Amino acid sequence: MQTVIETQDLKSYYILDVFGKEKVVKAVDGVNIKIHQNEIYGIAGESGCGKTTLLRAIFGIIDPPLRLIGGKVLYHHDGQVYDLYALDPTERRSLRWKFVSYVPQGSMSVLNPVVKIKETFKDFLNSHLKGRTKEEYYELAKEHLKGLGLPPTILEAYPHQLSGGMRQRVTIALATLLKPKVIIADEPTTALDVVTQRGVIQLLKDIQSTYMNTIVLVTHDMGVHASLSTRIAVMYAGKIIEEAPTSKLFKNPKHPYTKFLINSLPRFGDKSRRTSAPGSPPSLAALPPGCSFHPRCPYCFEKCKVEVPPLREYEPDHKVACWLMEERIA
Ligand code: SF4
Repeated sequence: MQTVIETQDLKSYYILDVFGKEKVVKAVDGVNIKIHQNEIYGIAGESGCGKTTLLRAIFGIIDPPLRLIGGKVLYHHDGQVYDLYALDPTERRSLRWKFVSYVPQGSMSVLNPVVKIKETFKDFLNSHLKGRTKEEYYELAKEHLKGLGLPPTILEAYPHQLSGGMRQRVTIALATLLKPKVIIADEPTTALDVVTQRGVIQLLKDIQSTYMNTIVLVTHDMGVHASLSTRIAVMYAGKIIEEAPTSKLFKNPKHPYTKFLINSLPRFGDKSRRTSAPGSPPSLAALPPGCSFHPRCPYCFEKCKVEVPPLREYEPDHKVACWLMEERIA
């Protein structure tokens, strides 16, 4: 399996000034992942666990108060390895969108509400593929939409004339115009009803199978991961605590937190009460010592309260960060 994006001990914190006192929010705290070509790599976890910040760090948009504290993001492109944060801003910009594109949360933040969709497509193409006429840009946009099974007539619409689901699909189409190797999508189905969600999920699946590219998908919705992701990393308090192919993770979750996430999913025909993790996630500005999940974990023992469990591969392709796994081996 070829790696396309890799993070090595990536740390990215928000450094805030609260009434003259420095507050450090450890949103991404030592993340090591390898994302492969031609997979849909899901990043799961409750809100506030650092998922979106990890995506931003991978895409190279770390703006104050967010800071890169340490580690690397490596892009594997055309036989070369690019250390994202060692590149100068021009090199970084030129890799962005051609190699990797980003679908942020909320389609309205991408689409200009006062211009027709076709103008947004034209401006995007013009900033990356210079020297064509306006008509040629429109034609490219039309062909792209047709290729994705979307009606080209939407180019003549203003964003407010489209449904939320169609706007989201347009945003995804825009992010894939340059056929990037990797698409990063942040909560692409949030705030959509179930039927519309299905349309967006199908579009992402179609894009992945047509272009054989990689999708990095962040969502808190384990149901969406089950139907879309091929491999999943579960994040908790800024760290990856479990990573496995989707079928393995759902069949045999090993980390107590992952078990809670999966058990909280409604099951067809099962009327029993679903259980979610007790309590709430810790503040990333005041993490508990040891395993960050220990105050919520029913299996917590002394070691968990003082030592941070490392993420280790206990079975082929199945990594877990939990001291229970060590106990089982011993
Ligand atoms: Fe629970 Fe301990 Fe495992 Fe953390 S390390 S998840 S507290 S058993």
